[in-house]
Amino acid sequence: FELNKEKKKKTLSSGNSTTSNDNPSQSLSNSSSSSFSTFLDKMRARLSAGHFRMLNEKLYTCSGEEAFTYFKEDPSLFNMYHKGYQEQMSHWPQQPVNIIIKWLKDKNSSMVVADFGCGDAHIAKTVKNKVFSFDLVANDPSVIACDMSNTPLDSSTVDVAVFCLSLMGINYPSYLQEAHRVLKPCGWLLIAEVKSRFDPNTGGADPNKFLEAICELGFTLELKDFSNKMFILLYFKKKEKQNFKKKGIEWPELKPCLYKRR
Ligand code: SAH
Repeated sequence: FELNKEKKKKTLSSGNSTTSNDNPSQSLSNSSSSSFSTFLDKMRARLSAGHFRMLNEKLYTCSGEEAFTYFKEDPSLFNMYHKGYQEQMSHWPQQPVNIIIKWLKDKNSSMVVADFGCGDAHIAKTVKNKVFSFDLVANDPSVIACDMSNTPLDSSTVDVAVFCLSLMGINYPSYLQEAHRVLKPCGWLLIAEVKSRFDPNTGGADPNKFLEAICELGFTLELKDFSNKMFILLYFKKKEKQNFKKKGIEWPELKPCLYKRR
């Protein structure tokens, strides 16, 4: 999970035999027709992987509002995005969403959770808690489709706000402001983010600046866990007293997370 270094294109040996043929599909022997369909499968996989990377880059380089409109016009793009996302995730030794689920299971299930950028709503489907799941498109009836900088929740009603790999838009501070609004005093803010976005050696943000900005918004840092190779985990609590500020906070820019070609 790092900045793309394009692998050299693999030669498509299975496809070459058909190019000089007038009507390849009719004259192929069984074995070459199966290699032709393998070739087509590879081409399809490559196209959908390319499409996923394009959508992913789009989400990291536009605002949440723009992304919301974009997917509203063509919700099928969202499914395409999530197919690619799941494919990428399947290569991670550990998924941050499972660590968050374990954390929730170890706590009291009466805690109300808001899952910001829930994807397939895995948290809501796995824990006993009441979970409000938000994403740009509702691909499950339990999900509320919205731009998460503007959720329908009342202020100070939630015990845990979760952002699991979802701080994507260029206006990400407004998502954290929204989480601050809906959280009860002393409520938890849990953030899992891609580690490379916080590696200043490769153009990533200074993690301390990110932590400071969140604290200025009105949180205290309870725990930071940088032990995983792929992602960082941050646990904050909303300050009890509302002496937070929203303007004048210096938010570091978070670079997009571009996925490797596989
Ligand atoms: N949290 C899930 C999915 C992570 S993918 C998991 O860990 O498996 C990131 C998700 O955030 C995507 O589904 C994307 O659509 C969503 N997202 C990004 N920006 C958003 C916004 N402004 N409002 C709502 N959802 C958003």
